[in-house]
Amino acid sequence: MTYHTPVLLKEVVNQLQPRRGGLYVDCTVGGGGHAREILRACGPEGQLIGLDWDDEAIAASRERLSEFGARVQLVRASYVELERVLMSLGVTVVDGVLFDLGVSSRQFDEPGRGFSVLRDGPLDMRMSRQLGATARDILRTASLEELAKIFRVYGEEKRSRAVARTIVAERERAPLETTTQLARLVEQVLGPKRGAIHPATRVFQGLRIAVNNELANLRQGLDVATRFLQSGARIAVISFHSLEDRIVKRFFVEKSSGCICPPELPVCGCGRKETLRIVTKKPVTADETEVGVNPRARSAKLRVAEKI
Ligand code: SAH
Repeated sequence: MTYHTPVLLKEVVNQLQPRRGGLYVDCTVGGGGHAREILRACGPEGQLIGLDWDDEAIAASRERLSEFGARVQLVRASYVELERVLMSLGVTVVDGVLFDLGVSSRQFDEPGRGFSVLRDGPLDMRMSRQLGATARDILRTASLEELAKIFRVYGEEKRSRAVARTIVAERERAPLETTTQLARLVEQVLGPKRGAIHPATRVFQGLRIAVNNELANLRQGLDVATRFLQSGARIAVISFHSLEDRIVKRFFVEKSSGCICPPELPVCGCGRKETLRIVTKKPVTADETEVGVNPRARSAKLRVAEKI
């Protein structure tokens, strides 16, 4: 079974333009699909540092990338810790960075991880086993308000309060333990499945983002990664839903706009300088052929910026 089919593979390599002998960082190395192509493109001396939060991803990419020997270094860490990781490896500048967000197909398809609304498993949803609270813990301890907010803001679920109210009523009787229990409960509130998407999909998305603190991590990760880019080096980010894409877009816009002082001010007081140039005015998306073979590519958006 393949671990994960990388999305927008050619596009990522085209955009990062790996140069021979360069040093690249894959912040979400997963099964190593993108990493492998980057390593090929920057060979025979180029190097790659791959991070992932998940032990299993590190094990899988270690195997997949073994042919590259010492050209690859894999570290189990969150990309939020990128600075510490790079310092410990003695790295001060890099030639390109990739973020491929979200969960891998392997994580998603493994019932024991609790990510999929369609597979019966424990309500876990932690990308890293080092994380404390699982989805089950949040469902058990969060207040009605907090749950509603998770479903509304992170899940973009319109009937967030109704779902939260039902969960709070239900947990008085017995704690929610499994994905199937949660999926059924949400279905009772929102009505049965219409079309291809399960009614509890958005609730699951909201919980996953909360468990892994995904949006705050992304903001921080982009910031740290950008600081390590060499002048002319690129940062490429693939996102899978609008909340993530908005963060990436705003980050790039902010970093690519300089002084924000009012024009009547004779000298700049804000001190803001542009650090990035946006390469993709519009996000790059997958073509029909790719979506045909890999449905996960349907919602993928690639944005790229270059260090000034
Ligand atoms: N590009 C990879 C697939 C990446 S899937 C490939 O070609 O195989 C996304 C990966 O990001 C998952 O393995 C997940 O564990 C990891 N991830 C998510 N959040 C992370 C974080 N904060 N730090 C490090 N890795 C993270």
